[in-house]
Amino acid sequence: MRKAIILLIILLTFIGIWAEELNDEGSLVAVLYHQASAEYQAICYQAYNLASDQLIRLSKKEHQKPLAVILDVDETVLSNSKYNALEVIRKREYPKEFYQWIDEMNSEPIAGALEFTLLADSLGIKIFYITNRRDHKQAPTIGNLQKYGFPQAVPEQVLCKVKESSKEKRRQQVMADYEVLLLIGDNLIDFADCFAGRSVEERADAVNTWKAEFGRRYIILPNTMHGFWQKVIEDFEYDLTPEQLREKRLKYLKY
Ligand SMILES: [Mg+2]
Repeated sequence: MRKAIILLIILLTFIGIWAEELNDEGSLVAVLYHQASAEYQAICYQAYNLASDQLIRLSKKEHQKPLAVILDVDETVLSNSKYNALEVIRKREYPKEFYQWIDEMNSEPIAGALEFTLLADSLGIKIFYITNRRDHKQAPTIGNLQKYGFPQAVPEQVLCKVKESSKEKRRQQVMADYEVLLLIGDNLIDFADCFAGRSVEERADAVNTWKAEFGRRYIILPNTMHGFWQKVIEDFEYDLTPEQLREKRLKYLKY
């Protein structure tokens, strides 16, 4: 009995230390939403079911060019929540450790993404994966996509970031030869540069302006862990202390 109590005290002490030493307490719930919420999973299925219905409908219309769809990669077809989970616990060296994570090719498919791409493939539609993973990480990105059976994951169709974060040039490059039926992403900049606003208000205004496109040509997936939405709140500043982060986040809390 005494041994059990001592063990319990040791265990509680460890849990206590571990909890105190979280690197990013503020992102704990954000990551859990991706990993432990079936609602998140349901929203992803909802987005891809909607995308599939739209794809079937739009592909039946007459088009001048061959058909294509554009998908982002991270948090759109592949999940990095395990990388982000570790970031909650301890400080990770970016980009070094993110590159290591990419090399491991362990990003798992987002719910519904594989079924959607297989449908597009079966309809003879070209699939382009436009990602802001750096171009020197194209091979493991393709390897990761192929590992889970994503179709058309070949170098000419996995367009990584070379210099610019804007995906506009890469989109235009695809649109020159193809009729793009759908764009799928978790970040507004996956759709068009008109969403690349620098403030919370500008981004909200752009979404209002283009509201008719969502669920029709633009299919968006939730991402509570990271994205432009968060960068805007953090004023595009990196290496903020937990206190500075807290202050910036609280500024946008409405109550
Ligand atoms: Mg993404």
